Amino acid sequence: GELYNILGWGEPYFTVNSKGHLCAKPHGRETTPGQEIDVHSVIEEVLAGTTNDNKKVQFPMILRFPDVLKVRLNSLHAAFKDAIATTGYRNRYQGVYPIKVNQNKDVIQDLVRFGHDESYGLEAGSKPELLVAMGCLAKAKPGAYLVCNGYKDADFIALALSARAMGLNCIIVLEMEEELDIVVEQSAKLGVEPAIGIRAKLLTKIPGHFGSTAGKRGKFGLLEEKIYGVAERLREMGKLHWLTMLHFHIGSMIPTTEIVRKAVGEAVGIYCNLVSRYGAPMTVLDCGGGLGVDYDGTRSGDSDMSVAYGLEEYACSVVEAARLRCDRSGVTHPVLCTESGRAMVTHHSMIIVEALSAIPEPPEDETCDQLMSKIKDLSSKQPRMAANGGAGLYSHAAELQKQGIEMYKLAKKMCKRVTSDANTIYNYHMNLSVFSLVADYWGVGQLFPMMPVSRLDERPTLRGTLVDITCDSDGKIDKFIGGGDTVPLHPLDPERGAYYVAVLLSGSYQEALACKHNLFSDPTLVRVEGGSGDGAFKVVSVEMGPTTEEIIGTMRFDVREDIARAVEELAKKNNLWVNVEPLMAKGLTTMPYLNEYKVPKTT
Ligand code: PLP
Repeated sequence: GELYNILGWGEPYFTVNSKGHLCAKPHGRETTPGQEIDVHSVIEEVLAGTTNDNKKVQFPMILRFPDVLKVRLNSLHAAFKDAIATTGYRNRYQGVYPIKVNQNKDVIQDLVRFGHDESYGLEAGSKPELLVAMGCLAKAKPGAYLVCNGYKDADFIALALSARAMGLNCIIVLEMEEELDIVVEQSAKLGVEPAIGIRAKLLTKIPGHFGSTAGKRGKFGLLEEKIYGVAERLREMGKLHWLTMLHFHIGSMIPTTEIVRKAVGEAVGIYCNLVSRYGAPMTVLDCGGGLGVDYDGTRSGDSDMSVAYGLEEYACSVVEAARLRCDRSGVTHPVLCTESGRAMVTHHSMIIVEALSAIPEPPEDETCDQLMSKIKDLSSKQPRMAANGGAGLYSHAAELQKQGIEMYKLAKKMCKRVTSDANTIYNYHMNLSVFSLVADYWGVGQLFPMMPVSRLDERPTLRGTLVDITCDSDGKIDKFIGGGDTVPLHPLDPERGAYYVAVLLSGSYQEALACKHNLFSDPTLVRVEGGSGDGAFKVVSVEMGPTTEEIIGTMRFDVREDIARAVEELAKKNNLWVNVEPLMAKGLTTMPYLNEYKVPKTT
């Protein structure tokens, strides 16, 4: 475990047990050693069974630990409660989960259920997300926020107004001034009064990849003066009572609490002006996302992979900055909302991939034989040169020296080659597609902790890269947390069973961003809950991704006509007969990755 810095990024959710197996700690800090979930045992149990619809389980799989989601959400609420109590803040925290971060049904429904007592709500950034949010919030506590962000057309706004009419606390956040006209129009048409928020485009920026969201040239929101313009317009229309929320989002992975404080301070300044100058009946400050995750476990905050704080420090910074600025202006403390996505869901799931083979990378330069023959060639020249007699002793000496250096270099290379097993890089072919499992690795260079699931009591002797089974040269993982271009792995040993590698901290964004490269399907989803007895766990569900037919169908093929019939024709032309009917009746088998897909029998 130490080798992989599990204490750095994994505490208090992951550990290694006495068998040398990776374990999940479903209750975080509260997990007793007996409650640790042995990941290797989970995989074996899953493989021994079938999926919910009785199919053979296939790799890769995502293991979901809903207990971890619960701990994360509870920790967020506890952090804000503590910060509010210790700073004497006179209002509450009421957050929302941004659906875009992981849109899976289980994840959203679990979070809404776990957050029920805290009136935890949802954030939607598009019409489909709004529909999902409406469905999932039907069981939430009345008053839970449904925050609508993103660009909105008349349909989006009409849907949001309908949600409000149905009793959901739906707030339409204006990203552009023009959206106000649509809200006014749709509100009149439907006879529903909206609740409005305005997204502030702050000047506070974060460095690095995620920084482009904010600043004057940021894509979203209104600059301070424009915000006052909207308040002015609302006042003129006699609709100032619509305005209840100020929202901002300066980007994901805010690296330090200093930036958190600065952003909150800037936003609360605008909030206070809306209250004191315009008399807007504001009640909520929504600080957006950005609460980070320490992927590399360094707590340094000096890269996109690390943040220099935890939930507690983040909550304290938000609460204190809001209190200070409001007290200075004599404005009532607002309800504090955040749209923390990554920090809620990153830890709760891990991707499990299986090693198919490990192949040493061929050395880049000459082979041993080539080096040997060069050395021989150089040595054979010497007697000839010596035979040249006294002809230019000086140049002879210089030539000899040059050859000496050359021989020395070659000999050194030879030595290195002999001792190079430790330097050889092994390409581990894994049953995975980088594009559909860890899209952020490929897209934005996001790094994830990766480690074997078993044999952690045995020193891994090889340096491995993870190569996927797509035909794309980008489908390779050769950058790892800590900066290495390889990860320590064990030699594959069929006698000891399959070799699994876990990709951890992969619960946010990856499933949402997955691409259909090579028409691979989605991974198998496994829901694992902690049990009560020693080492007990419960595999609650095992669901396979879309069938091959469904995946091909998303590319607008009619699988029956365009593929099955065409294949049938082709067979006929070659005097073969393919019976596609049984195949079509069953639907093409799910074959997300490599599997024993059977070619239809020809007779
Ligand atoms: N809110 C908005 C408006 C966003 O665009 C995002 C994502 O970028 C989030 C919330 C979630 O951010 P994070 O996952 O960093 O908490």
